[in-house]
Amino acid sequence: MAAVLSRELEQKAGAVRAGLAAALHQYGRLIYSNSLGAEAMVLTDIIWSHLPRIEVFSIDTGRLHEETYALLEKLQQRYQRQLRLVYPDSQALEALVAAQGVNGFYHSLEARLDCCRIRKVEPFKRAIAGFPAWVTGVRREQSAGRARGQSTEWDAEHSLYKLSPLLDWSEADVWQYIRAYGLPYNPLHDRQFPSIGCSPCTRAIQPGESRRAGRWWWEQPESRECGLHPRVRPEALPA
Ligand code: SF4
Repeated sequence: MAAVLSRELEQKAGAVRAGLAAALHQYGRLIYSNSLGAEAMVLTDIIWSHLPRIEVFSIDTGRLHEETYALLEKLQQRYQRQLRLVYPDSQALEALVAAQGVNGFYHSLEARLDCCRIRKVEPFKRAIAGFPAWVTGVRREQSAGRARGQSTEWDAEHSLYKLSPLLDWSEADVWQYIRAYGLPYNPLHDRQFPSIGCSPCTRAIQPGESRRAGRWWWEQPESRECGLHPRVRPEALPA
């Protein structure tokens, strides 16, 4: 399908392709943690169409929406590629559910973070282990914490570089790209779910709410991250 991107967005997309190609050359290996959100549709398209040597995975927490699984299949069909799925450790998960119950994450911040740690963070750490850098689709607009990020930063928590090639893309840029290329996307986005995570911890937002207001909505805004995006100041970058 012929894509009609604005001149500015064509330049931005070109810069993402060039930046990722340069990073692949520099680091030798890159791994992309695919969230299956709208930004992920852009990055999946760029990576699978132009930079297939970049490895890609998603985490199946076991609590995703049905719409997300359907999207996963559509993506695989479109690009004729298998998306590697990484799962929580089954023993750790059984112990968690035995200790806090199947929906125990609603009971306290600690319980919620324990669930995110076992269902998301540990599988994520396993998937990126041994890589010099990982790629993420976060954008500045998404939260106050992400607004302070840099497109390349040292991820001290996981001891590798974190690359955010879409950091300065607007939400409109993401959707212009998706529509221009006719990319598949999660239909929940059309039902006021701008940010999609696990089904029990994500809901639609109301007009005027921030785009992450539907994630862990019962918590204070500052705690609404799952632990995959520790915030690092530039002075923490190694020489
Ligand atoms: S988002 Fe909710 S269900 Fe998913 S891992 Fe975190 S606490 Fe558990």
